[in-house]
This record gives sequence, C-alpha cells and structure tokens, in this order.
Amino acid sequence: MNEIREQDIRALVERIVGLGVDAAAGCEKNGWMEVPTEISARHVHLTEQAVETLFGPGAALHPKRDLSQPGQFLCEERVRLIGPKGVMENIAVLGPVRSAVQVELSLTDARTLGVKAPIRQSGDLSGAGDVYIIGPCGMLNATGSVIAAKAHVHMTPENAKQYGVQDGQTVQLRLQTDRPITLGDVVVRVSEKFALAAHIDFDEANAAHFTGKEPCAICCAGVSAQPAAPAPVKQEKPSCQTPAVPAANGKKQLITEAEAVRMVAAGLSMPEGPNIIVTPLAKDAFLHAKAK
Ligand SMILES: [Zn+2]
Repeated sequence: MNEIREQDIRALVERIVGLGVDAAAGCEKNGWMEVPTEISARHVHLTEQAVETLFGPGAALHPKRDLSQPGQFLCEERVRLIGPKGVMENIAVLGPVRSAVQVELSLTDARTLGVKAPIRQSGDLSGAGDVYIIGPCGMLNATGSVIAAKAHVHMTPENAKQYGVQDGQTVQLRLQTDRPITLGDVVVRVSEKFALAAHIDFDEANAAHFTGKEPCAICCAGVSAQPAAPAPVKQEKPSCQTPAVPAANGKKQLITEAEAVRMVAAGLSMPEGPNIIVTPLAKDAFLHAKAK
C-alpha cells in the first residue's frame, strides 16, 4: 500500500511551485524571532564643517556615551532646531561626523517645527526637509537634511543567517506590549560593523506604548521586494529572501554597505546619479577601497 507521507507531498509541491513555497515555509518555521529594540530620540548627524560652523573653528565632537552600534556615540554637544512653526532645544548630536548633515525627527517633531520629514533610510536625503540648526557659535541653514528615519534592524552577517534574512530586505517588527503594534516595511541592514538592534522612533514607540523593555520580534513573512542591487546575490538560504532586482527606470537604487563591498571586490567605483542612493557605510567602503 502506498502511503503518501506529508514530506513527499511537500517535496512535490515545492518542485511545482518553486521558491515561493520555500519562502513561505521558511517564515512559518522561523516564526517570530525576538530582537532587541531601541527607541531613537530626535538627533542630528553633522559634517566636520557643520561642527566648526556651530561650535567654532577647529571644534570637534566630544563623546559622552557610546551607543549600541559600534563606533557611534552621543556627544556632549547639543544644538537647537528652528523651523517655521517652532523651536526645539537641547537636541542630541551623534558622532562621528558624517559626509552629510542629517536631522532625524519623529513626524510629531516635524509637525511641531513645521518642517517636512519624509520617511527615509539613513543616508537617503532625497526630498528631505529644511531646518535651521543653531549652535553656541553659529547657525546652519540645513536644507535637505530632515528625515523621519524608517524603522530598521541592524545586524551582523552572522545574525542575518540566524534570522534567515538579507541586507536590504524588509520584515515586520511586532512590539509585544499592552497595545501591541506590528510595524511593516522595517528594513534589515547587515554589516560587520553593526550590533543586533531594531531602531524605532518615539512616535512608533508611543503608538504601541513601548517603553524599551517589552519583547519585540521580527518575522520575514510578508516580505516586500528589497531595494535594487547592482547584481543578483547568490542566495545561501532561500527562506524569506527576495532576490535582488536591478532598478527599473526612474526607480531609486539603494547601494548598501554589502553591495559596496561586492562592487569594490569587482573593481567597480562608487556609482553616482540622481537615482542612486549610497548609504554612509557604503560610502565608507568605497572610500576605504580608494585609500588602499
Ligand atoms: Zn539605527
């Protein structure tokens, strides 16, 4: 008597419909996996030049406390933000300096100041809003600097393997509070330089009554297409991964650090163009390759 076992059926179905089933089954198997989650308060990133403008010629940032991401720190320095509708005092400055001034606000903050803050990944300042930044020694008209950071998860390549996810893909993040909320379109960012942590802003945290202590978890079910990459990436683990696709005409192309490393290895230089967004870590990767 032929006994049809579940795994035989599964194997057959997988052969028929291919990766789709694999991905769905992978998500189901992985389920929700806990991830440490932190709330990012409003802050600014400055360039070397901006630091001098705000804090005086020759000024440098002074680290006050390390942040969870290696090399990142909260500074002693504070600034004031001024928009058409309001002023915000005592805004944190995060170091080290970057190649562009970036002001990260919650949407509530942006409304208070009367400035535009599109939802963007760090480093993507396309359509970013304008604000004045005031320091003890000067003022900066920071045009095209204001964003509301898109919720994201930092992880190492090792973490990415454990979670079965890939740099640039999006996942859901569930805040398991007494007012539970599941955020969609949460970007996974993978780098050797990262430490495992999901970052949300105060609007997202408050909406869920998340205080920083409640458990949070990600699931790769409902994954959306990942941002464009220069070349398809070999998938080590098919579950929960969407293959990289080249940018369609007119679409923005995001170059992450992982992409940059691959491009550097292939002897390519940093791509430029109106539709190309290179993250700060990716820029570093290109610059370091150049310096070698
Ligand atoms: Zn972050």
